[in-house]
Amino acid sequence: MLNLVLFGAPGSGKGTQSAKLIDEYGLYHISTGEVLRDHIARKTELGKIADQYISKGQLIPDDLMISILDDVLEKNATDKKGVVFDGFPRTIPQAIALKELLNKRGTDLHAVIGLEVPEEELIQRMLKRGQETGRADDNRETIQNRLAVYHNQTEPLRDYYAKEGQYLAINGLGVVDEIFDEIAKGIERTTGHKRRTKR
Ligand code: AMP
Repeated sequence: MLNLVLFGAPGSGKGTQSAKLIDEYGLYHISTGEVLRDHIARKTELGKIADQYISKGQLIPDDLMISILDDVLEKNATDKKGVVFDGFPRTIPQAIALKELLNKRGTDLHAVIGLEVPEEELIQRMLKRGQETGRADDNRETIQNRLAVYHNQTEPLRDYYAKEGQYLAINGLGVVDEIFDEIAKGIERTTGHKRRTKR
């Protein structure tokens, strides 16, 4: 099994690099943001609750988010070689819960890949994505809130995972394939897993 967390601020390229990770390592992709947006689109009860937080750029409460993740893990991901967690954990309680959820399934977290991108670039990328995809929370005001929430609640996870010896810092600025090369090298160095295709 290879279980990875793709960590980084909103707009740091987690979605883009996740797609490459699932291709190269045969992993299952769990984006908690996508799970929630799907509920909003289907107008489920959960979607109505999630929308109130997402539209303000706030985090869904930990208890709710953790139980959603437990559910997603239960329904999927069992026949794959591991999971890429994209957008989870975003708080320390979520990080503790993730370890428990993996341990109770007889596995563990193997590495945390941190995409590091300067703030001005993050804002430009999100504004562009908002224009191109119409994603509702990619507007200037919500972006500012999401970045503030990231600094206050999510960034402390960097130190948390660094202390665990699991944090792999990656420069997230530049060409997508070159960033991925750095990620793949880091994964091989820390977990021994090789990518499928050589470059
Ligand atoms: P993302 O697609 O990862 O940028 O997530 C979009 C939005 O979904 C976030 O701004 C939060 O409102 C919500 N969300 C996604 N993942 C989480 C999480 N792990 N904990 C709390 N809220 C989340």
